[in-house]
Amino acid sequence: MRLPIYLDNHATTRLDPRVLEAMMPYLTGTYGNAASHSHSFGWAAEQAVETARAQMAQLIGATAKEIVFTSGATESNNVALKGVVETARQSQPDRPLHIVTQATEHKAVLDVCGWLSRQGCLVTTLPVSAQGLVDLDELRRALDDEPALLVSIMAANNEVGTMQPVEEIGVLCRERGVLFHTDAAQAVGKIPVDVARAKIDLLSLSGHKIYGPKGVGALYVRRGVKVAEQMHGGGHERGMRSGTLNVAGIVGLGAACALAAGEMAEETVRLGVLRERLRTKLLAGLERVRVNGSATHRLPGNLSVTFQGVDSESLMMGLKDVAVSSGSACTSASIQPSHVLRAMGLSEDDAHSTLRFGIGRFNTEEEIDFVAERIVEVVPKLRELSPAWAEMT
Ligand SMILES: *Cc1c(COP(=O)(O)O)cnc(C)c1O
Repeated sequence: MRLPIYLDNHATTRLDPRVLEAMMPYLTGTYGNAASHSHSFGWAAEQAVETARAQMAQLIGATAKEIVFTSGATESNNVALKGVVETARQSQPDRPLHIVTQATEHKAVLDVCGWLSRQGCLVTTLPVSAQGLVDLDELRRALDDEPALLVSIMAANNEVGTMQPVEEIGVLCRERGVLFHTDAAQAVGKIPVDVARAKIDLLSLSGHKIYGPKGVGALYVRRGVKVAEQMHGGGHERGMRSGTLNVAGIVGLGAACALAAGEMAEETVRLGVLRERLRTKLLAGLERVRVNGSATHRLPGNLSVTFQGVDSESLMMGLKDVAVSSGSACTSASIQPSHVLRAMGLSEDDAHSTLRFGIGRFNTEEEIDFVAERIVEVVPKLRELSPAWAEMT
């Protein structure tokens, strides 16, 4: 076993060596521009991109023509939300620009909604239950109170692993002629996601969350849905995203998708077993420990745990051979408690006592046992020094 142990697979994942192998030719000899149609260098690059597009489409039940390559899920979310609003402004100027989202979205959705709201859109942000689930009755009410253009609700949460009922949400949206966008960066490649079954119109995903490279992602755009371009230029990607394609990155994303499609079922079982092993050991070894999120609607590799009376920053410091996160990577630079945990009703103190374990493809049982033992050893020591703990007990 090598130290440190990486248990932060929601922040990013290690590039699978098989993905790197698929990418290598496109980082070296096969360097053509996929938009160069006059010679074999360009043709080879274009062919590789189209293979990746098909691999990507197959994983989510789409057709290749519906895939737009981007730089990642942040960009995909921006293009989806801003592109839909811009299209509506141009083609249906009388339509109310109402967007419905929910409180535990990634900042790459919430911040775009904040910006759109400053541009005059009406944004409804639905609350979540203690498990982090949106209430379908509340969604129905929001849509019936004020006709909406778009619903943006994530497929799976990056902090607590809660999986939203996308198939039911898709039905509610389709019945009302509302577009349904889902940020599926944590879901695609981990759990089955089928854009036809869930009636998804727009879906964002990212390469580096599925053992592919960073800086590449995709937006699925259902045939017939119009999304105004946010990056103007050469008209690449059917005019929806200009810029020379990141050929090696796209090849890597395609390879990552193909691997996920083939190994998902087996991997889900393996990660679920490791997660339960960690959970059981922590709950057996420590008092006042709580698991956050849904027990049933949960990503297999996710475990979010509140260690009451312990500051998560001190705990991480005490676990110096273990890479975990105290919240979403994108907000951990600030000392704000996680908006996800707060939305689920955790107190500020509990939110500051929470660690997120992200178990992934390359973790082993030996690593899980090591981490569990370290935590069971360190937490009581930290509690001995904690005034908050003294008050609690
Ligand atoms: C990581 C992540 C993103 C951002 O993806 P990038 O490709 O890093 O831009 C967006 N949404 C969720 C749910 C994520 O987990």
